[in-house]
Amino acid sequence: MAVDSTLPSAVGATGSEKDAKPLLFIEEMTKNVDSDQERVLGEILTRNGETEYLKRFNLNGATDRETFKSKIPVVIYEDLQPEIQRIANGDKSPILSSHPISEFLTSSGTSAGERKLMPTIHEELDRRQLLYSLLMPVMNLYVPGLDKGKGLYFLFIKAETKTPGGLLARPVLTSYYKSEHFKNRPYDPFNVYTSPNETILCPDSIQSMYAQMLCGLIMREEVLRVGAVFASGLLKAIRFLQVNWKQFAHDIETGTLNPKVTDPSVRECMNKILKPNPELAAFVTKECSEENWERIITRVWPNTKYLDVIVTGAMAQYIPTLEYYSGGLPMACTMYASSECYFGLNLKPMCKPSEVSYTIMPNMAYFEFLPHESSAPELSRDSPPRLVDLAVLQVGKEYELIVTTYAGLCRYRVGDILKVTGFHNAAPQFRFIRRKNVLLSIDFDKTDESELQQAIENALVLLKEFNTSVVEYTSYAETKHIPGHYVIYWELLVKDAANAPTDQFLSQCCFEMEESLNVVYRQCRVADSIGPLEIRVVKNGTFEELMDYAISRGASINQYKVPRCVSFTPIMELLDSRVVSKHFSPALPHWKPERRR
Ligand code: AMP
Repeated sequence: MAVDSTLPSAVGATGSEKDAKPLLFIEEMTKNVDSDQERVLGEILTRNGETEYLKRFNLNGATDRETFKSKIPVVIYEDLQPEIQRIANGDKSPILSSHPISEFLTSSGTSAGERKLMPTIHEELDRRQLLYSLLMPVMNLYVPGLDKGKGLYFLFIKAETKTPGGLLARPVLTSYYKSEHFKNRPYDPFNVYTSPNETILCPDSIQSMYAQMLCGLIMREEVLRVGAVFASGLLKAIRFLQVNWKQFAHDIETGTLNPKVTDPSVRECMNKILKPNPELAAFVTKECSEENWERIITRVWPNTKYLDVIVTGAMAQYIPTLEYYSGGLPMACTMYASSECYFGLNLKPMCKPSEVSYTIMPNMAYFEFLPHESSAPELSRDSPPRLVDLAVLQVGKEYELIVTTYAGLCRYRVGDILKVTGFHNAAPQFRFIRRKNVLLSIDFDKTDESELQQAIENALVLLKEFNTSVVEYTSYAETKHIPGHYVIYWELLVKDAANAPTDQFLSQCCFEMEESLNVVYRQCRVADSIGPLEIRVVKNGTFEELMDYAISRGASINQYKVPRCVSFTPIMELLDSRVVSKHFSPALPHWKPERRR
């Protein structure tokens, strides 16, 4: 068994007393995984035992694992939707949690096209902050001197809405950045950002990005790390620089702020930072006007030691682009978290992206694992699955993550598939393998097979007018260009050649598909983090060739299914060599912050 316990010997390595306590905490937590998990479940069941939800399953005051496992069902979001809807409508009785639900966190996962609403309680902020407080002490073990400069992080808040009962519904990071925990965080020389709070908290994401980038340029010599939460966010910032560098150079040269930034608090804080600096303006102009943007990050921010961005899971597709812009700087994936619960951290943040493993912290929630075999049938209510506890997982096996949280989610399927790669002390470490059922993802969007199928069907209704049908289709997340976009390959059966669908019409089909995709996709489109959807019409017979190719590589003729998403280069090359026409969505799909229902 690969047991890794490098952290204890490294505790003294930073020489920082401040770090010793959090590092020791990690050691303690990872040594006593099983007893900590037992304690956490006991605490959750003691406090939530009298909730309407748990009473339904007759726990009768039991707080032990065996009773819990034998009586409480494993659920997905849709199972809890009636309870969640009641809470959203204003029912304040203890339905899921004995502590009042303080707000809903809007997950990027969707249900029936809408973002899922995750209930949370106020004290969860403490747990999230605790996990954040462990990140820099671990990083300091590997990268010295981070207290000598600043972090250029592109952090944003998003639109908030209110549920009919008056509870806030917003993304977890918006909730965190707006909390006192973040706004009034004590000064820590290891965690100084170039972005003032006012720029992060500006609700207009373009003004926010503008001000954050401008600060990054002004303080460029001080920047030691550059980051965003996910890789897609950092790439969006690079594109923003590409589009706006002339205006930045103008602002820096004259010491005046672009009048399009109208937010009074952003203007006030930027006016204190911005001074005429013709030399810096000339530098920005020289670097950004070059045709070649290779290594632009290290050219503009020459002291950057690493990029702080998540490039695991769906974000792995951005690694080559980030390597190009950064000249191969290390990419640190520091933590693994969700709206349901923050899970854990990477204890070796400077490792290669392909080797990233996260250690789940057993104090965050009670964790169970469903052994995952891709061929296994779906869970059925009649034969409850055997879930495995955190402390007894096996190296090399894949599991689906299931959480029971202090906020009242019980045995909830998060939808992530993880593989155990080893242990740190007694705590298993996980490689993020993939999200269940997600086919396409560019930014925060997650489109599954049935959503894509539905979008195709909606477009097909339009095609009927031309007596045309779609013989086969597949899809691809094109991320070589920023912003990335969805590509749908269509093989058409045109029954009346004289009345074949026109370019204008196929573009309309692209738009129709975008209108049918979920709210997160549409929001990302409106925010320009996803480009217009593209249909590539391929020659007749292309999908048969695809099948022949798969069979030549060992697929069984009986079981062959057209892949609904492709990414393997030879397959892409085959498809692209058969393209007869390309069509793009001509307009932005509908998106408004409020929920449709
Ligand atoms: P959300 O609920 O919108 O915050 O999304 C949470 C989901 O994002 C998780 O369940 C994962 O699927 C994904 N995610 C979060 N952190 C990571 C990470 N470090 N690596 C890969 N995927 C991640």
